[in-house]
Amino acid sequence: MDTHPVKGLDLGICSNCGRRAPIYFRRYSGVKLCSTCFKEDFIKRVRRTISRYELLKYDDRILVAVSGGKDSLVLLKVLYEIEQDFPRSELLAALIDEGIDSYRLDCSRISREFANALNIELHELSFRDLYGFTLNEVVESGIAEKLKLHPCTICGVLRRKALVTAARRLGATVIATAHTLEDIVQTYLLNLLRGERNMRPIGLRRGAENVIPRVAPLRLTPQREIALYAYLEGIPFQLRSCPYTHESMRDEIRNFLTLYDYKYPGSLYAFLNTFEKILEKIPQSAEVNRCEICGEPTDRRICRACEIVLSIKDLLRN
Ligand code: SF4
Ligand code: ZN
Ligand code: ZN
Repeated sequence: MDTHPVKGLDLGICSNCGRRAPIYFRRYSGVKLCSTCFKEDFIKRVRRTISRYELLKYDDRILVAVSGGKDSLVLLKVLYEIEQDFPRSELLAALIDEGIDSYRLDCSRISREFANALNIELHELSFRDLYGFTLNEVVESGIAEKLKLHPCTICGVLRRKALVTAARRLGATVIATAHTLEDIVQTYLLNLLRGERNMRPIGLRRGAENVIPRVAPLRLTPQREIALYAYLEGIPFQLRSCPYTHESMRDEIRNFLTLYDYKYPGSLYAFLNTFEKILEKIPQSAEVNRCEICGEPTDRRICRACEIVLSIKDLLRN
């Protein structure tokens, strides 16, 4: 049996193989895992998530949304591993360049090199090409302020739309995003606190016609396990923060949930499972309303992305 690399630290042995020293303690289950078992278990959990929620089909053309951050590069790597067992599926990657100075250039280089190493082509689309402006221009010209929109709101809505455009151009049948357990619980809580009326499950495959589903294979994986997997696999990722990152309501919820889950391990899973059972009972309309401009699904006459693009272009012209 190996001894633990940290001298004098007695963590026992790996609960799975019973041979090697553990490097990870899963607080909610009491399981301790060595590095080899942790990596295997990490991939197994993503496999189980995909099959439990039927997120992917054996012949899907999967577009992975990469940003250069650790979550999305870990997702790309794990789906690459899983996809080896599904020869009829295909993996593609897309990176959206919002035009945020050197920050996005770094993300783009890291993502391209990582995707190339896995033999996956990275498709890059920019706000400039798609919408005719960059996020920097919108912020620096004062337009974001005039529209009373935080850069992250503009960025999030337009990036989401850009991904759908990328998926349509590439003939993808599904978009895989790197939303984690924490991201999904935070969004559910935020939606509740904001009084959102049209709440739908996040990151699950919905069957509406001509809508490219967005799935989140990491929806049951906590952040700290993603960080550890990235470290153990030597996955490079962008460490710099985006200059527009700001203290928001989401940060307050994130901090609260981190503390709460530390005190009561397993709370995030409990919330997610219970909340999604409640959501299942809310009847979802099978009818899909379409944006009058772009034709993508929306609850409004004109989708939020088209509305924002129109307002920005209007102000840029004047
Ligand atoms: Fe976009 Fe905001 Fe994220 Fe920066 S922090 S990449 S502006 S969503
Ligand atoms: Zn082990
Ligand atoms: Zn639209």
